[in-house]
Amino acid sequence: MEIHKITTNKVNQNYLPSKKEDTKLLTIQNTDRSEVLMKELDKMAGNNIAFKGNFELNLSKEELEKRTNKDYLITKKMLKADAPEYLALADGDKETLKHLVKAAYILEKINMQLDNPHNLEFKEYLDKEIAKGNKNAEMTKVLFDAQKGINAIDSMSDKIHLAKGHTDLPGKGVYPEDLTKEEFHKILTKMLNEGKDEEVKKILTQRSVVERKGDELVGIDYIDKFKDDFAKMADEIDKAAATSTNPDFTEYLKLQAKALRTADPMLDAEADKKWATLQDTPLEFTITRENYEDEMTGTIVENKELSKMLEERGITPIPKDFLGGRVGIVNKKGTDALMAIKKYLPTLADNMPYNDEYEQNISTKGDAKQTMVDVDLVAVTGNVGEYRGGITLAENLPNDDKLSLKIGGGRRNVYHRQIRFISDKAKLQERLDAILDKDQQKYYLDEADHWFTIGHENAHSLGPKKAGESLGKYRNIIEENKADMGSLAFVDLLTELGMYTPEQRKQIIVTTVTDNFLKSKPTLSQAHRVRTVMQNKYFADRGAYEITPEGKIHVNIDKVVPIAKEMLAEIVRIQIDGDFDKAEKYVKDNFVWTDNMELIAQKLQKVNKTLNGRTESELAEKLLAE
Ligand SMILES: [Zn+2]
Repeated sequence: MEIHKITTNKVNQNYLPSKKEDTKLLTIQNTDRSEVLMKELDKMAGNNIAFKGNFELNLSKEELEKRTNKDYLITKKMLKADAPEYLALADGDKETLKHLVKAAYILEKINMQLDNPHNLEFKEYLDKEIAKGNKNAEMTKVLFDAQKGINAIDSMSDKIHLAKGHTDLPGKGVYPEDLTKEEFHKILTKMLNEGKDEEVKKILTQRSVVERKGDELVGIDYIDKFKDDFAKMADEIDKAAATSTNPDFTEYLKLQAKALRTADPMLDAEADKKWATLQDTPLEFTITRENYEDEMTGTIVENKELSKMLEERGITPIPKDFLGGRVGIVNKKGTDALMAIKKYLPTLADNMPYNDEYEQNISTKGDAKQTMVDVDLVAVTGNVGEYRGGITLAENLPNDDKLSLKIGGGRRNVYHRQIRFISDKAKLQERLDAILDKDQQKYYLDEADHWFTIGHENAHSLGPKKAGESLGKYRNIIEENKADMGSLAFVDLLTELGMYTPEQRKQIIVTTVTDNFLKSKPTLSQAHRVRTVMQNKYFADRGAYEITPEGKIHVNIDKVVPIAKEMLAEIVRIQIDGDFDKAEKYVKDNFVWTDNMELIAQKLQKVNKTLNGRTESELAEKLLAE
C-alpha cells in the first residue's frame, strides 16, 4: 500500500532549470508546419480514427507549451551520476546497481503494456515524429515520459489524454479494450454455469492479462504473457546477484530472478518473503505490485448474483497488479531514524480498535516482522515512477492479497528520499502565508510530514489482515483512510511513550491538518485524494479546525487526535464487516467538498501552478548506457 501521492497540497517546486533546458524549452515553441500538414493529409485520407502506428496529438501547441514549462511541470531529481552515495559503494555493488537499473527499465516496458494497449506504439509514433522535427510531438513526449503513458490525471484532477480518441480504459491494458462491465459479468456468469471454474480463477487473479477467446475470456499469467522481457529481466538480475557484496541481498535477487522465469505464485511468494527481511543491505531493489489502477475487476462485487456464485466456488476476484521497478541505495542515517517506531509497533497493535476481532500483520507480542529503510533513489520505473497528479512517496509491501503473507512472510517499508525533499522554502512560506493562521505557522514542518508518513505506512500493517476485496472500488479508499487515521490516532500515545516530544506532537497535528487541504476537488477514482477530502470533512464537522475571518486555517490542536481515533474505529469496523453498501455510504457521506475547502483551494492554486511532474534520473541514465 502506498502513501498518498504528493503534490497537490505540497510545494515541490524544487526545479531549477539549467541553461541547456531553458534553450530546449525555447526551441520547441516554434509553430510546427509539418504537423499541421500531416493532419490535413490524414483528413484527406479519411483517417480521423487512429489506426495502428498512427495517432493524432490531442493537446494543442499552447497547452503543450504551458504544461512543459517549468512553472507548471516540476521535476524530482533522482541521484546524480557523481552522487557521493554512489561513489561510496563497493565496486561489486556498483556493478550490481547497473544491472538492476537495466532490469527496472525492462519492467517499465512491460508495465506500459499493462497500463494501455497503445502506449508502446504511441511512444514509437512520437519518436518518429520528433525525428521529422515535429515540435508538438517533442513536447508531448516530455509529458508521456513524465506520466509514463498516454493517459493520466494532473494535479488539478483533470484528465490528460495525449492521443486523440484514446481515453482511459476501466480495464487499462489488462482487459480487452472493448470489454464493458456488463459483458465482463455476463461472460463470467456463463463460464461458471458451464463449470469452467479453473478458467475463471485464472481470469480473476491479480497476475493475469485477460484476453478474448471466442465468446469467452482467458487469463494469461503475466510471466507467460511477457515471457521474453521477463527472461531478459531475470538475466540482468542474475548478473546483479553475481557481484552483489551482501549475501542476503544476493539470495533475494536469485529468488526474484527465478520467479520471473516460471509462472508460479509460490516463487513470487518466496522472493517476497526474503525481500521483506532485508534491513541492512547497501542496495535497494523492488518489483512493486499495486492494484490502484484496475477499475474493472472491482466491479464484480456490485453484481450480487455473480459475487455469490464466485463465493460458493471459493474464488476471490482480486484487482490486477501494476508493476514498478525501484532501484536505490539505502541511506543509513535516514533508516536509523525510521527504526525508532519499530519497538512501539506491538503496543500500537494492542491499541487498535476492535483488535480482539481480527488477527494483525503486526503481532502484539514479539517480533514485528517488519523491516523499514530510507532510500536514495536511482530510478523509479513503471507504476511506481508514474507522475500522475503525484508520485509515490513511500510503500509498505507486499499488500494483503499476496501469498507471501500467507506463508509467514513479513512486510517492508521503503521511503523515497528524493521524492519527499522540498528545496524551495520560499515557496513553502508563501503557501503558509496564504492558508495557515500566522500564530500556528511555527508548528508547520515539512519533516513532520515524513513522521506522519512513517505512521501511515506502519498503520497499513495494523488492523484486519484480510484484503477487503468485498469492498470493491472503495477498498483502497478505506484502507488508505485507515492508514492516515492510524498515523494520527497514535500521536498522543507515541508522545506519552516518548517517541515524539510535545513540540513534535503539535507539529505533526498542524502539518497534517493543513496538508489535508487540496488544490482541487478530486474524482472518485483517486483513492489517495478522496480519503483526504473525507477526513477534512469529518474534521470540519467535529471542530478539529476552523477558518479564521481572514480565511486562514486554525487548527484546534487538542481535538485532532480524539477525532482521528473516532474515525479510525469507524473505518476498522467497515473493514471487519466487509459490507460494500456500508463502505459506499461512508465514503459518500464524507466525500463532500465544502465551501471552506474551495476557499483554501483557490489560494493554493494561486501559489502553486504545478499541473504535471516528472522524474530526472541522471545516474540511472549513465548506468543504462554502460
Ligand atoms: Zn498508504
